[in-house]
Amino acid sequence: MTLAEKLAQERRARLAAERMLEHKQRELFAANEKLALHARALSNQIVEQRLAVRSALSEAETLKGQNSRYLSDLDRAHTAAVMAERRLWDSIETIRDGFAVFDAQGRLVAANRAYLLVFADFPQVKPGIGYEEILRLSHAAGLVDTGGRPEDDWVATMLARWDQHPVEPMVIRFASGTYVKLIDRRARDGDMVSLALNITETMTREAALREAQERAEAANRAKSAFLANMSHEIRTPMNGVVGMAELLCDTALSEEQRLYAETIKSSGEALLVIINDVLDYSKIEAGKLLLHPEPFDLERCIHEIAMLMQPVVQEKGIDLLIDFDLFLPTRFLGDPGRIRQVLTNLIGNAVKFTDRGQVLIRVVGFEAGPGRHELHVTVEDTGVGIAPENLSHIFGEFNQVEDQSNRRFEGTGLGLAISRRLVERMGGTIWVESDLGQGSCFGFEIVLPVAEEPGAPAAAPIALRHALVVDDQLTNRRILERQLETYGLEVTLCRSGAEALEAVAQGPAFDVVLTDHNMPDMDGPALARVLRAQGQTVPILLLSSHPGPVRDDPAARADLTAILQKPVLRRDLFVQLQSLTRAPPAAPQASRAMRVLTAEDNRTNQLVFRKMTRDLDIELAFAADGREAVDLFESFRPDLIFMDISMPGMDGRDAARNIRAQEAARGGHVPIVALTAHAMEGDAESILAAGIDRYMTKPLRRAAIIGEIAAHCPPGARPVQAGADIEAA
Ligand code: ADP
Repeated sequence: MTLAEKLAQERRARLAAERMLEHKQRELFAANEKLALHARALSNQIVEQRLAVRSALSEAETLKGQNSRYLSDLDRAHTAAVMAERRLWDSIETIRDGFAVFDAQGRLVAANRAYLLVFADFPQVKPGIGYEEILRLSHAAGLVDTGGRPEDDWVATMLARWDQHPVEPMVIRFASGTYVKLIDRRARDGDMVSLALNITETMTREAALREAQERAEAANRAKSAFLANMSHEIRTPMNGVVGMAELLCDTALSEEQRLYAETIKSSGEALLVIINDVLDYSKIEAGKLLLHPEPFDLERCIHEIAMLMQPVVQEKGIDLLIDFDLFLPTRFLGDPGRIRQVLTNLIGNAVKFTDRGQVLIRVVGFEAGPGRHELHVTVEDTGVGIAPENLSHIFGEFNQVEDQSNRRFEGTGLGLAISRRLVERMGGTIWVESDLGQGSCFGFEIVLPVAEEPGAPAAAPIALRHALVVDDQLTNRRILERQLETYGLEVTLCRSGAEALEAVAQGPAFDVVLTDHNMPDMDGPALARVLRAQGQTVPILLLSSHPGPVRDDPAARADLTAILQKPVLRRDLFVQLQSLTRAPPAAPQASRAMRVLTAEDNRTNQLVFRKMTRDLDIELAFAADGREAVDLFESFRPDLIFMDISMPGMDGRDAARNIRAQEAARGGHVPIVALTAHAMEGDAESILAAGIDRYMTKPLRRAAIIGEIAAHCPPGARPVQAGADIEAA
């Protein structure tokens, strides 16, 4: 090999080595670059981690702080809980009543000292003991008065009591005389919290109260008995006084004698009203007022009261009108005595406080359910009225409106208070509206079952077409118009006799004329006289509040077809119109008089009775005691018996029972009306229980007696009152 060749070879080797170096340098550079990147990333990581560590450290610090706060909070809470529990138990310890807590299994958890004190002699009574064991131990040691019940029995009852939800409180008596009321309540977790209240004081007080109440009740009974007695004792002689005075007034008397007799009568009546008021009031107060519902005729009841008011009404020259809703039944089931009492009070007041104008009794109503009617009865007057400030307490006790306008009226001031209580007792309400100087309207509302007799003769036709009504009173004309129109009649109304004569002269032929009695210028009988003189044959009915004089005047009677006592019962008017339809009127001559037996031992009262009924066409017999009444029932065969209750020997109740027993054997039922001076409840019941149909309280009133007799006149006997007049006696 040449040198050149060697040099070339060396150059080539050097060049290769240089290229290799260059390459390695490049690789080194790249590796350096990478390394630097890594180092940068690493240092970043280190910074981040350092930050993280720092925040973790501070977080740990915070947590540490919180933790110690929680710990101290917990500590405080625990202390508070311990203190609260201690306080609670301290409080529970201070109460005199026993307190205990049992767990769901009935084991005593804790009890206060008062509870444990009862079992002071029994160390086993402490937390952990079972309820049943406490019970058994109480029974065995005689701690509790169990009324002699065997242990198992009593314990079973006591345990069963704890199974109730909620547990009923019970009272037990300890042998020591202490009364304890056990109040147990099941807590949510099944624990039983038991409270034993010491109620010995309350029990002692209650016993004292009970005793005091019994004493008061006994005193009240004595008072009632005294009142009953007093009423009986006073009523019996008052019957003689009032009855005789009434009869005396009917005899020929000098002016002076009449004044005396009337004073006796009115004073006696006033006294009776007071006795009744006081009696009723004390009865209501004592809660002794019982209602005796029976079927009765409301319309008739109102008419009877109106009749009794007639003398005063006429004397005052005012009008007493009745407007009984035509579409209402008249018979209801209620206590007629009490309803009558309310009505009498309201109507009596209205008449008392009215000197001019009228008193209008209005009855309306509607069906309040099957067979029941809500009745609204109002009594409206045109009297002195009541000042607004007095209206609110008018139904209170002993309330008389004290002012000039009524100082001249007497009364007990109990009437409206009694009426209110009676109406409320019947489930109704009572009210008043009034304008001073204009008049008052008292009203009450009650719901009564209807007692309409099936097949009432309402449907029988009236074959009259046109009626002429003559009355100077607008209200009266309207009432009659409405009544007649419902019977299918066409009605022409006239205000005076003169108008009536004109109507008859010009108008259509009338089938009936209904005329009022007292009218200015030409009264009813005068109108009838003129019509008859003109040759008119139309039936003329006179409606009169005071028919006596016309009845006694044969000439006046001859002009009239019938005289009806005002206010006229719808049924009476209806029957009268029906009888006009029948032509000619059949007049069956009944051959015998009605037989009335009166059992009454008091001679004076016999005399009063005889005089009161002297104008009646009846055969009257008296029995002096119950025995005689029974005998006369056999021999005299009465159509009606009035029976005094207290009679020597056999009394009225026994006599009635005896008569009813005889009737049970052979049939029949003679109406028996008791005459009684008793006004107390027990009497009414025992009287009705003896088989007596009704009772009337003494003193007897002529109108009521006559009404009773007329109502029971049998078909086979002559009418009890002379003539064929229809009267609402
Ligand atoms: P008294 O037995 O005194 O009449 P009441 O309780 O029946 O007692 O009535 C109380 C008072 O109410 C009466 O004294 C009278 O002042 C007043 N009063 C009652 N009804 C009427 C009436 N229709 N018009 C005016 N005042 C009346």
